[in-house]
Amino acid sequence: MSGFSYRTGALYAEDVALTDIAAQVGTPTYVYSAAVLERNYRAYEQVFGGQNVGIHFALKANGNLAIVALLGSFGAGADIVSLGELRRALAAGIPPDRIVFSGVGKTNEELAAAVKAGIAQINVESEPELEALDGIARAAGRRQRIVLRINPDVDARTHEKISTGKRGDKFGIPYADAQALYRRAASLPGVEPVGLALHIGSQLIDLAPYKAAYRKVADLVQDLRRDGLTVQALDLGGGIGITYNDEKPPSLDEYATIVCDTVGNLGCRLAIEPGRSVVASAGVLLSRVIYCKNGAANDILIMDAGMNDLMRPSMYGAYHPIYPVQEPSPDAKMTAVDVVGPVCETGDTFARARLLPPLGTNDLVAFGAAGAYCSSMSSTYNARPLAAEVLVHGHSYDVVRARQSIEAMFADEHMPDWVTGTDPIAMTAGRKRA
Ligand SMILES: *Cc1c(COP(=O)(O)O)cnc(C)c1O
Repeated sequence: MSGFSYRTGALYAEDVALTDIAAQVGTPTYVYSAAVLERNYRAYEQVFGGQNVGIHFALKANGNLAIVALLGSFGAGADIVSLGELRRALAAGIPPDRIVFSGVGKTNEELAAAVKAGIAQINVESEPELEALDGIARAAGRRQRIVLRINPDVDARTHEKISTGKRGDKFGIPYADAQALYRRAASLPGVEPVGLALHIGSQLIDLAPYKAAYRKVADLVQDLRRDGLTVQALDLGGGIGITYNDEKPPSLDEYATIVCDTVGNLGCRLAIEPGRSVVASAGVLLSRVIYCKNGAANDILIMDAGMNDLMRPSMYGAYHPIYPVQEPSPDAKMTAVDVVGPVCETGDTFARARLLPPLGTNDLVAFGAAGAYCSSMSSTYNARPLAAEVLVHGHSYDVVRARQSIEAMFADEHMPDWVTGTDPIAMTAGRKRA
């Protein structure tokens, strides 16, 4: 967990003690390391940069403006999946010509906003989307660059909820239909098909599915070209896995070799859309123990972070490492404990039978590998405000999202007069009913 390390007995994010952040910002709080973010991003740049491969950070992994802006300052583009993410990417200063728009269900409003913003590319996932976009772009007097997202029908061998490239998954255009639809797209005045996209899933540990999918896409490129169609761009998706527990993900070099071997000689401009592998290891969720109580099986550590803050364990059965902020002594007795949140669901369990040193009320822990799909998936379930987010940069840090106030949580809600009994007409009607 470099970027996060023990110094003089306590866990630091770069040169800032997590105890200081907890004291000043409170808990639960997401803490990100700018240095780790940069290292993760530069690794992609080093492997692919020489070959002019576009790197579009997938905002859904972590859309915090500071994080997106920081990545943008390194040269990253954005992969977005909603109007909200378009607005986030633009607000963070990502130039429109570095934004690509993915997603299976883009509304007319979203497509129109993307066309108007002049984004680089829309990844079209179906025939109705193609027809809708053509109309919207023509109405705006534009010709929108698009690629068709293909479902290559490969098994990504990842968690079923994040596998996206198998026939029957909701994503993409069936491989067999792609050629006809590409031809149709080429005939429409509102769109300019420039290539193909695919994204077969997330947290991929095995490179074989990539190889199979990229081979199929390469074959399709040849077929389209034989048909006289122009194919200049390939968007290869994201999805490289990371280590949460004992996974052994491929290196970027190995991944790049596969890219080179399968689609490297087609003369296409390549793009990738990594999310998890850029931000996951750059973040921890800092949380405090409320109580430790005796359970029937194991002792139970009850944290002040819940499934609303960190959903992956309850959603996917995901593993997150748990680090005591105070460094355990080498001879500390490790015991198996259940680590849970305060939310009223048994699903609000982060870990069962996790080996940890003695921890009690007020002790701090950090959930590791929590930079991706953690804060961005959080909710206010149980009327728990969204956690604060902090970005550490060397010796200093900034609160990049203030802890949500309880007032802000329900500021947009409204009680109609007929409910509160202050509307005289409704009150009369109510009396009649009674
Ligand atoms: C989620 C997603 C990504 C990012 O996937 P990671 O596993 O986070 O790298 C990239 N492209 C598309 C289309 C996605 O939906």
